[in-house]
Amino acid sequence: MEWNDDTIAKLRTLWAEGLSTAEIGRRLNISKNAVVGKAHRLNLPSRPSPIRRAEGDAVPRQAAPKRAQGPTLPPLAASMGAPVPSLRAIMPTAKYTTRATPCCWPIGEPGKPSFHFCNASAAAGKPYCEDHASIAYVRVRDRREDVA
Ligand SMILES: [Zn+2]
Repeated sequence: MEWNDDTIAKLRTLWAEGLSTAEIGRRLNISKNAVVGKAHRLNLPSRPSPIRRAEGDAVPRQAAPKRAQGPTLPPLAASMGAPVPSLRAIMPTAKYTTRATPCCWPIGEPGKPSFHFCNASAAAGKPYCEDHASIAYVRVRDRREDVA
């Protein structure tokens, strides 16, 4: 198996779409280990295992997922030339906005024509739909474990 720009681009795309490493391997006709190894060398963001760990469900989800990656909301007040209010002050607005906004989980590679957002109905108070919110949550947890 030789990596070239084409296969690397495909890997990045499939990876960003959230396919399992095994599935990516099947599509690129390479081994799962090759996918994992190349993704690591490309510094692609770590992803949750397709098999949800049972103990993960026991973790209380009181904290909103930190967005390790992805689009950020524009600084609303700053763009209007007003002083930035405290986080508490803008929270009601943000909550209202996200409830009416489609899921903004990025799919594909930013800058490419194929890049788009999930656009499924976002969960109330979250920037992502239920599925992507849970992925974002797991991603942060995995990242912490990588550091440890
Ligand atoms: Zn989504």
